[in-house]
Amino acid sequence: MDIIDLHCDTISVLGEKNENLYSNSGHFDILRASEAGLILQFFALFTMPADRNSALRHTLRLAEKYLSQLDKYDDYLYPVKTAGDINNSTENHKIGCLLHLEGAECLGKDIAVLEILYRLGLRSIGLTWNHRNLLADGIGESNGGGISDKGKEMIQAMDQMGIILDLAHISEKAYFEALEHYNRPVIVSHANARQLCPHRRNLTDEQLRALARHGGIVGVNQVSDFVAVEKPSLDKFIDHIIYISELIGVEHVALGSDFDGADDIVLKGVQDYKNLPAKMRERGFSEDEIRKILSENAGRTIKSII
Ligand SMILES: [Zn+2]
Repeated sequence: MDIIDLHCDTISVLGEKNENLYSNSGHFDILRASEAGLILQFFALFTMPADRNSALRHTLRLAEKYLSQLDKYDDYLYPVKTAGDINNSTENHKIGCLLHLEGAECLGKDIAVLEILYRLGLRSIGLTWNHRNLLADGIGESNGGGISDKGKEMIQAMDQMGIILDLAHISEKAYFEALEHYNRPVIVSHANARQLCPHRRNLTDEQLRALARHGGIVGVNQVSDFVAVEKPSLDKFIDHIIYISELIGVEHVALGSDFDGADDIVLKGVQDYKNLPAKMRERGFSEDEIRKILSENAGRTIKSII
């Protein structure tokens, strides 16, 4: 079954281990992803916020890693830059790759840098990781503020250019403000329901309802700490899918694994996505609902933005 996944950190990990995308020791590689039915994967570029002065250099190095892997394995991968590119995946039997920036420190407050990264293929941005930057506050700031004036300008530029706004990691105040400044559907690429697991990165019911009102989607996340305080499991991961579907509708649910973003996740890696449809059937999802959650909701949302 076709699968779209909204978040992985594999590019950063490849650089550290000197491994490649075709086959590696992490959670995600081409061999296992193709077998599992992946048609589109978001690839995050992540820089520690403390490295603000070197953030752009570090981001460009990661972008080079991403682009060179796409070149090297172009029999299996292709870049997704326009809405039309998404349909190609079924025809060319390749995995579409969408370039994402996790924490926008490297932009400073300079829209010209955004334009350059757009030319490199960047189509999705989370303004912050857990910390504060020039654009907005992250969820890790104890007195989390909202979005700065420059942040609002950046969001408007993203809106005009057709860059996806990802609200994972942002402070609660900034989350609600961002929804008012971006006219397209937003995504929360990797988070779960705080009602089931009280992690700060998970979304409150109020956040989930606001997301649905703005036509957005949340990528349900596999990181054990976000799934359950006690005994995280695949079943408890599906509990989040059920809870969010019942609260705001199945149309707003997608997948955002966080492969290679944490050591402890409830699947062993992308290969285990193969088993997800059967597990969801057992829990009462219809074929139509499974298709929506695994790929159609994400496909619809991405197409309406890029
Ligand atoms: Zn993250």
